[in-house]
Amino acid sequence: MDFEFTEEQELFRKSIREYCQKNLAPRLFDIEDGGRIPQDIIEGLANMGILAMTASPEKGGAGADAVTAGIAGEEIGRADVSCATAVFYLVPTAWGYVFNKYGDSELSKKVLSKVAKGRAFIGIATTEPAAGSDLANIRMLAVKKGSTYILNGEKMYTSGVKEVMELLPEAGGFLTLAKTDPSKGTRGMSLFYVPIKEVSGEVSVTYLREMGRRGISTGGFSLKDVEVPEENMVGPENRGFYICMEGFDFARSIISVVCCGAAMSALETAMDYIKQRNVFGNPLAKYEGVQFKLAENYAKLDAVRLLGYKALWMFDKEQREGKFTRFEVTRVAAEAKMLAPWVAFDAVNDAMQWYGAYGYMAECPLQIALRGIRSYMWAEGATEIMKIIVARELLGKEYIAYR
Ligand SMILES: Cc1cc2nc3c(=O)[nH]c(=O)nc-3n(C[C@H](O)[C@H](O)[C@H](O)COP(=O)(O)OP(=O)(O)OC[C@H]3O[C@@H](n4cnc5c(N)ncnc54)[C@H](O)[C@@H]3O)c2cc1C
Repeated sequence: MDFEFTEEQELFRKSIREYCQKNLAPRLFDIEDGGRIPQDIIEGLANMGILAMTASPEKGGAGADAVTAGIAGEEIGRADVSCATAVFYLVPTAWGYVFNKYGDSELSKKVLSKVAKGRAFIGIATTEPAAGSDLANIRMLAVKKGSTYILNGEKMYTSGVKEVMELLPEAGGFLTLAKTDPSKGTRGMSLFYVPIKEVSGEVSVTYLREMGRRGISTGGFSLKDVEVPEENMVGPENRGFYICMEGFDFARSIISVVCCGAAMSALETAMDYIKQRNVFGNPLAKYEGVQFKLAENYAKLDAVRLLGYKALWMFDKEQREGKFTRFEVTRVAAEAKMLAPWVAFDAVNDAMQWYGAYGYMAECPLQIALRGIRSYMWAEGATEIMKIIVARELLGKEYIAYR
């Protein structure tokens, strides 16, 4: 066993932490209240070399491993506890990795090099108005016509729609899951890169108002007879669902360390507060009722954070050395994603209590963290689906209820 990061990873963390604490943390309210991540912050992250860092160097990335990508996610989560910047970072990190690995090399180079410069976004679009957890029932259809595919259908609750349509100078697009052989369920789905702002055909977008993580948009898009060239297919035909599972494993693992980062940072802020707030003649920090909650929550976060890094480490081992099976990685990633948002949410919620009435005020940063972390009880796969995955791996596929 070795719980140490490499020397390079420690140096990397130090530089990202310094950057994020200086440039990102003071802008928390700008991001949450302004409804977008200011472009200078995005370009700052690009200059640090962390956007699309998992893409290969010839495509504008750094060929970064998953653990290193997790470190950047955790530090961003610590600084912008709303999780908006973390979403902006982690979605292209995980799904850019998938695009880099399975996408057409010219197309992925063109797109990822723009993402790496902070000028475009690459997101994931699996969820639809009538199918989220139950992806076998998506309706988006892709029909081959010569050397193109014609897409029809609607995606919903997609992170980054406004970033692509309006906010980023060079747009970007979404890895979009569609049925190419509807008779085959998940074995008849393919993944397409769809640059929704640039495609021919009818595209209409919806923007949604959210409870938290307001610095990044969530929306939907509907495609009517939208034509994409066949090179926009990511990976082989009818393998889209399984390719998505690789992206989910990666994204879920980063999310778990992001949630822990945001909650640990909120706990640290709260620790300063309880040391200086006097109640009944003592600082709040002296009371064991407060200390016990702090200790319990910190220990849980510490444990889940390690599980998140274990998932990232396993992802690297599987992808780079073939050491674990896909299913082993999927299980551990699901374990981490199942626990992290809840443990983080409880930690922040308990710490808010120590603030008294101030905890309920808009100026208290903890409420921003609470609302942001809550999103991860659904985004990139809901908690219940994580439980189904873990149970499936423990009991065997014959115990899946939906077969
Ligand atoms: C902030 C945010 C950002 C998102 N960003 C994206 C994105 O970028 N791209 C994208 O494709 N999607 C995105 N999503 C959607 C997300 O992936 C879905 O919300 C998630 O997969 C659940 O799907 P659903 O919302 O349709 O819920 P449903 O599938 O309708 O499920 C409803 C509830 O029932 C639970 N449930 C389902 N099946 C069972 C069962 N068998 N037993 C018990 N409980 C069950 C679910 O866990 C959930 O809590 C985002 C969601 C949020 C909240």
